[in-house]
This record gives sequence, structure tokens and C-alpha cells, in this order.
Amino acid sequence: MLAYTYVEKGRFELREKPVPCIETSHDALVRVTLSSICTSDLHIKHGSVPRAVPGITVGHEMVGVVEQVGEEVTSVKPGDRVAVNVETFCGECFFCRHGYVNNCEDPDGGWALGCRIDGGQAEYVRVPHANQGLSRIPDGVTDEQALFVGDILATGFWATRISEITPDDTVLIIGAGPTGICTLLCVRWKRPRRIIVCEKSEERARFVREHYPDVWVVHPDECKEAVLAHSAHGGADVVMEVAGTDDTFRLAWECARPNAIVTVVALYDAPQILPLPEMYGKNLTFKTGGVDGCDCDEILRLIAGGEIDTTPLITHRFPLGEIEEAYRIFENRLDGVIKIAIEGPK
Ligand SMILES: [Zn+2]
Ligand SMILES: [Zn+2]
Repeated sequence: MLAYTYVEKGRFELREKPVPCIETSHDALVRVTLSSICTSDLHIKHGSVPRAVPGITVGHEMVGVVEQVGEEVTSVKPGDRVAVNVETFCGECFFCRHGYVNNCEDPDGGWALGCRIDGGQAEYVRVPHANQGLSRIPDGVTDEQALFVGDILATGFWATRISEITPDDTVLIIGAGPTGICTLLCVRWKRPRRIIVCEKSEERARFVREHYPDVWVVHPDECKEAVLAHSAHGGADVVMEVAGTDDTFRLAWECARPNAIVTVVALYDAPQILPLPEMYGKNLTFKTGGVDGCDCDEILRLIAGGEIDTTPLITHRFPLGEIEEAYRIFENRLDGVIKIAIEGPK
């Protein structure tokens, strides 16, 4: 089968590999119908994910059809259409039992697919701990609608959940890349009083204005002034930092009102400064980290009910055989790209 492979730093290649086999009783084999390219794939390519193992098949955002299951897999059966979770988790350890699946203690726990074990930019993928890692896609939800459920939409949903948003809140979201927009969609579902999105790129700002006219979009240069002028208590009630650029961490806490929650979803390239003397008395609550992707069934229900629709994010489609070109467009942000759907062989 074709599998897009991490060869060495700076080089991915479409290679011929054997179809994976069931290795343990809790594995499932999934035929990938659609996959996508994530910024984290580029981090692997650029050598900034030291855990990534050369030779593995990349890709951790995908949906497909179950082909085969190990004997302990009970949540799905061959023929089921499924969304694959970016995180592998056992469901039994201390962290899993508390819903903190990102820190699952299993050797395969956390982000394994497409990083430490073979992922889904391929014709088939082996999914360990399939009872936890696969969610059946409801009838009436298309593969394209479900494509982001296991990764960037799970991230937006988790970020929204831990941000404790109420109907009275003004919520500031910094960054309108793919994960920022997924976060926006989940925040909109919570229907807070006002949502402000801060985005530097004119193209992405236009995308948000066109698709979500209820949202107020500001440029980083005017963000602090605008947020402070338009919030009742000296800043946003909730700030969600999804940009991860040099000055967005500072912007996030500066735009927060006293006693606000600041949720940091972004992954930074460099350490950030937490100037506690400047913040003293503001009594902020910071929440940070990587997605606990354990809400995929609920997200699929929201999609089925028409509450969340990520299909406008799919701006390009390519067959797996042309994934090289898809990467070129995604990596260089050409042609207004937001997300690309890679189609498996029919
Ligand atoms: Zn990702
Ligand atoms: Zn676990």
C-alpha cells in the first residue's frame, strides 16, 4: 500500500509498504477513506518533534472503515465508519479514569499515531486500544464532516470545556488558523455574550468574517485596546490563546480581566515569560497543555445535530498519490489553504 513516510529531518516520501496487521487483541485495522495534514506533521518534518521515529508513516487526522478487529474490541466492528482519535489511551490507568487521556501511562499512550507508530496518511492504519481510539460515525454524518473530530476539533472542544464559558462572557480567541477556527466553532456552540477573534492574516480574518458574521475580528495591533474598550470589566472574561507566536502569550493575559481564565492551547517554539510582579493582583487562572481527546462521541453527536460544521475548513482535496503537492500547498500556505482532505483509493 502507499504510505507517506518520515524518512529523515526535512524529508517525507510516498513509499510502498505492506498493509499493517492486527498485532494485539485490542487493535483494529482501518481502511483510511480521508486523512488530513496538520501543522504537527510539519513539526515532525522540520525535526522539532524528537519523539518522532524515522521510517514511520505520518498522519494523525483521519476517518475510515473498520476492516478487521482484535478479539477484545467491542466498540466497533468490521464495516463501521469511524473517526480515529489522535491520542491512544488505555481507558484504565489513573489519568484515563480522570479523563486526562493525554497523559495515559500506557507505552503507546498519548500522541503515538503518525509520530511513534505508523499513522494514517496511508491506505490502511493499525489503531491500538481501538475501544477508546475509534468513534463510530453516525449515519447522516459524512466522512468530511467527521474528518477533524479526532484532532483539531477535539482540541477546540477540550479547550472550550476547560475554559468554563458562561452566557455572560466575552471570549477572546487569539489565532484563526485551523485549530483556532475549530475552537471558535465550539465556543459559538456555548453561545457566550460576545466572541472576539484576533488574527493577523487578512486572508484568515476574511474567512472568519465571511463564515461567522456574528464574530468580531480584530488585528493584533488593535486587539488590546479594542477588547478593553468593549468589555464590561476591564478585559475578556475568557481568553483562549491558539496562535503561539512570539507576543501572543503576553497579549493573552494582558487582554484578560481580573480573575479571568486564560487557556493556552498553542504550542510555542520558545519558552514564554510569566511576569508575576506585573500580574500581581490580577488573580488569573492559567490552563495549558495538549488535548484530552476523550469527547469524540459527543462531538459527533453535535455534528449530527447541526451544532458544529467544520466542512468550510476543507479548502483543497487531493488523492493520496498526490500528497506531495498537497504538502507543498499546505506548508507554504498557498492558494488560501486552510485544510486539505487526502482521499484514499476508492
Ligand atoms: Zn494534529
Ligand atoms: Zn491510560
